Amino acid sequence: MRRSRNVKIVATLGPASDSYDMIATLHQTGADVFRLNMSHGTHDEIREKHRIIREVEQNLGGTIGILADLQGPKLRVGVFANGEEDLQEGAPFRLDLDRAEGDATRVCLPHPEIFAALQPGASLLVNDGKIRLKVIDCSADHANCEVIIGGTISNRKGVNVPDVVLPLAALSDKDRADLEFACELGVDWLALSFVQRPEDVEEARALAAGRAAILSKIEKPSAVERFDDILAVSDGIMVARGDLGVELPVQNVPPIQKRLVRKCRTAAKPVIVATQMLESMIESPMPTRAEVSDVATAIYEGADAVMLSAESAAGSYPVEAVKTMDRVATEVEQDPTYTQIIEASRKADRNTVADGIVAAAREIAETTDIKAIACYTQSGATALLTARERPRVPIIAMTSSKETAGRLALSWGTTCVVTDALSRFKMAVLNAARAARSEGFAGPEDLIVVTAGVPFNVPGTTNILRVAPCDERLIYPADPE
Ligand code: PGA
Ligand code: MN
Repeated sequence: MRRSRNVKIVATLGPASDSYDMIATLHQTGADVFRLNMSHGTHDEIREKHRIIREVEQNLGGTIGILADLQGPKLRVGVFANGEEDLQEGAPFRLDLDRAEGDATRVCLPHPEIFAALQPGASLLVNDGKIRLKVIDCSADHANCEVIIGGTISNRKGVNVPDVVLPLAALSDKDRADLEFACELGVDWLALSFVQRPEDVEEARALAAGRAAILSKIEKPSAVERFDDILAVSDGIMVARGDLGVELPVQNVPPIQKRLVRKCRTAAKPVIVATQMLESMIESPMPTRAEVSDVATAIYEGADAVMLSAESAAGSYPVEAVKTMDRVATEVEQDPTYTQIIEASRKADRNTVADGIVAAAREIAETTDIKAIACYTQSGATALLTARERPRVPIIAMTSSKETAGRLALSWGTTCVVTDALSRFKMAVLNAARAARSEGFAGPEDLIVVTAGVPFNVPGTTNILRVAPCDERLIYPADPE
């Protein structure tokens, strides 16, 4: 499906968005990638969402990316008999290991290691730091707290303990089970929560064994410190501002976001800016000006994708939220200042033939009236390099790999077309011209740039570029074939 923008939209699915009709509408409205949050829902529920997404993809054509987000060593409270409770400032509230449903006085916190590490006086932050509890006394199986900042606490809300170093493994038993489940289901991306070290990423990569690309969520101070090493072993990054802004002072988040987005572009790896982008749209059909500005800022910075969390998963206006992002993105990308910023921040670190070819493709496309760059890509690497150039024309990634197409759904400006495996460049040009026309990028009178690697099916060989007409009769007019 041709979009009117280059930046991608990731929408988290949840109770507000689990029907076929809603998922189809969100995709048609603008969601390019759906996030399945493994922290919520049973495997059966997640399997059902996955099935619906693939059905929508089949029925509407095109590629939809699926990102399975592993909970990681995130601490979460259990569930409440009423689903939620209001905690009043000054009231006592108890956290314990009792699996029974919670009420206004207590809830389960199923993490013995946290009770072992807690001290009286420590702060516990619940629900992205909105609720603050102070530990009054504690033992190996409970903590009696005082509510310092009140609010609504509900099922499985996250808990951060910034004052206490918790000895937690990168992947819990649940994460390992969820990872295997997601890979068997067939997802494009696995997101790792609370990554602290590059080894955490390598551990997940070994378990995924090539079945999904690996995206590291940056939400711990240690991940920010070791970012370069983590980026080097990741396929993509999420600036996970929710937990990042709880674990670190909130004013540290914008500069980190800017730095991470730039580094990802230089590395030609997709980056998502996430969390609270349109938070007020959970309850309101209209965003605040500040939220609109936040989405716009991420796009001006050069992010590959912006993400909706509760707005699309549990809010009252999921479609309006996607529509808002789509409109903001379209507007920003038409702004000449955006083009200036994006082009001024292009990093010309070019060492390979492929680097040269993609730069040439962009230059040719910008020198004359070219409608699209069609690049043949098996692993996706050439498409990522082309996206890093941030050309002014759309990128059509031609690939015979459905897996590659799903991964590229997250990448800036890239539309994927799954093709048959090819053996001749002539067929590649014809197919690219056909795809450019059928996807609505060009008419028969238009020109496109086609890049490929010859011989075909040898990854990493991008070495050929042709400017081709989209009228098939004009591509090889003298050739009797
Ligand atoms: P989460 O991650 O929604 O899984 O917590 C994103 C974030 O922390 O910003
Ligand atoms: Mn998080």
